[in-house]
Formats: sequence, structure tokens, C-alpha cells
Amino acid sequence: MEIFYDKARLVELRRLLHRHPELSGQEHQTAGRVKRLLMDDQPDQLIEQLGGAGLAAVYEGQEPGPALLFRCDLDALPIEEVNDLAYRSQHQGRAHKCGHDGHMAIMNGLSMAISANRPRRGRAILLYQPSEENGQGARRVLEDERFPQIAPDKVFALHNLPGYAAGSVVLKSGTFAAASKGMVSQLYGKTAHAGEPENGRSPGIAMADIVRDLTWLPQNWSFEDFALITVIHARLGEIAFGTTPGYAEVMATLRTYSNPDMDQLTSRAVDIVQQHARSHSLENEISWREAFPATVNDNAELEMLREVARKERAPMVELDAPLRWSEDFSNFTLKYPGVLFGLGSGEHTPQLHNPDYDFPEEIIEPGIRIFYGIYRHYLK
Ligand SMILES: [Zn+2]
Ligand SMILES: [Zn+2]
Repeated sequence: MEIFYDKARLVELRRLLHRHPELSGQEHQTAGRVKRLLMDDQPDQLIEQLGGAGLAAVYEGQEPGPALLFRCDLDALPIEEVNDLAYRSQHQGRAHKCGHDGHMAIMNGLSMAISANRPRRGRAILLYQPSEENGQGARRVLEDERFPQIAPDKVFALHNLPGYAAGSVVLKSGTFAAASKGMVSQLYGKTAHAGEPENGRSPGIAMADIVRDLTWLPQNWSFEDFALITVIHARLGEIAFGTTPGYAEVMATLRTYSNPDMDQLTSRAVDIVQQHARSHSLENEISWREAFPATVNDNAELEMLREVARKERAPMVELDAPLRWSEDFSNFTLKYPGVLFGLGSGEHTPQLHNPDYDFPEEIIEPGIRIFYGIYRHYLK
């Protein structure tokens, strides 16, 4: 299949974005750089500041048909780059280590291709989503008052995936990426002199019990599928040898493959904290951070994607188990049928979020081809 796009401009864009990474919630210059190139494609509509720095280019067909949303992400990570690249990050302590710079290049390539071959029916929405890494962007885009203007019928996204042959399409029926969320439990007692702990209420024992019980909860309760709690941080009182502590906090990450399991795990974890707080006469407060639902693929759309991959002669890999990381594209698949798939970025490349990761430009074209194949399937 012939596809029209300017590869040199995409590589140039990818390297420009790589040089100037921006963190979640701050991606305004990134959006501007992407937009400058998009303007040349003359989309029918360009919606800016969607859910923050987000951007959507819309191409309308002449006849009625489905609205397809293709999504990429704008943000980089607070990781220092160690690579000696000509286009290395110009900003200390931040870099594109999840390959979102490459995802944007693929999306601009798709825009060029669609611009040269506009939809006959329906609508193509090319979404550049902010704040993926902290799990806030997808939700903010969905809650934006202008989102109903582009309401999609089907949603698609890819993520570059180290450990698989470059350009291969990595598929999973059902859950592709896990649900996860951060739990912050705060315990309030009462300080006293360290010589008179009986006059205070130390949360020390409750904190230790909570660390143990949260860690073992997945084994002590039956879940449909994989469930995991990792205690990531705990703190008791202040460093003061004369004081019995009056405050503690425990932070943990909850992870499951299914959304119902996450509901179960959440309510059991809350019970544990509340029970131990109560039995030690402590006040407690629980809050949640970075909540990602599980990304669950639609069966019919997955079958369509297999057909597209076969036509493009892209090697396919079917995963046995979901990925343990989370993706906030799940907020879209909760509402609309769609697929998140992996695009292999090479068998021997470093892993995502590693300081030496760099998106391989050779997979820009395979990414465009698969997205464009979906586009053709529905809108041409
Ligand atoms: Zn990431
Ligand atoms: Zn990512």
C-alpha cells in the first residue's frame, strides 16, 4: 500500500522534540512544535489546549461513517539522559525515555498520509494527549467541555515496546496493560516524651502491621487473576530521640489485571488500614494517586487489527499475559471499544524509562502503516 509522508521531516520533528522534553502538565511548547507541522496538512479542525496542552487534528469525510480516534502522548520523564546523542536532551534531569517523541512523529506521519488521501466517510481524530505518565491526561481530555465535539466511536493507540522485533505488532486479547494506583495511608496518634510512651499513642505497631498485611493481601484473598501490592514508602514520627511518635504514613502501589479485581483489592486494603488504626485508637486518612484502570482491548477491533497487520505483512506477537505496567489510554477503552497494541522497538534495546532508552526511528514507518491501515479499513 502506498502511503504519502515526508520521512525526513518526521525524523527532524522527533529529534527536535527529543532535544526539548517537557514533563507531564507542561507540554505547551511540545504541542506548539507538533502543531506547526500539522498546519501544513490542513486538517478540517484543530482543537488546542484539550485537557491541558492537548491537541486534536480532525479530518472529516463526506459521507457518514465511524469516528476513529488515534492517540499519542506528549510528555517526557524526570530522568537524566545518559546517551551521547547529537540530539540529546538539552534540559537537565528530563528526557523522552518512554518514546513519546516517537509516538508523536508517527502521529504526524499519519496526519501527512491522511492529508494526502482524505477520508471518504466518517471522521479521523488525531489526538496528542498530555500528562500520560502521571495518569491524569486522558481523564482531563475526556472531561474537557470540547471533547463531545470529537466524540469517537472507536479508539486506537500504540506503545513502543522494547524486547520485541523492531516493527512487530504485539497484541493481547482482553487486558493489555494492568490497572494500578497509589495508596497513601496516614495514621494520626499522639506524641509524648520517649520516656513516657504510655502517655501518647504511637502508630508504630499499626504501621508495621499495615506494611505486613498489605504486602500479603494478594496471597490471602482470592482474586480472578494477578493482584499485587508493593509497599513503596513508610515513615514514622520525626528523628527525635526524646519523642514517642504521633504520626505515620504508608504508601503502596496496588496492581491488578482486571478492573473488578482492582475494586476488590482496594476495598480490602482500605479495611486493613482502618482495622489496624481502630485497634490502636488512631485516626486515619486514605487518599489515592495516579489511578490507572486496566486497558482492556475489544475483541472485534483486535481481530480487525490482526487483519490490518497481515495485509501490511507486519510480524505479529500474541502475548500470554498482560503487561504489568499501566497506561492511561485505559480511560478511553473504558468508554469506547478500541485497542492498545505494542510496536516492537527491537529485541535488545534498553527498557522503557531506562536512562539509556532512545526511540528507534526505524519503527516510525511501521507505526504509521498500522494506524493508516486501520484508517483505510474504516474510512476509505
Ligand atoms: Zn512511560
Ligand atoms: Zn509511555
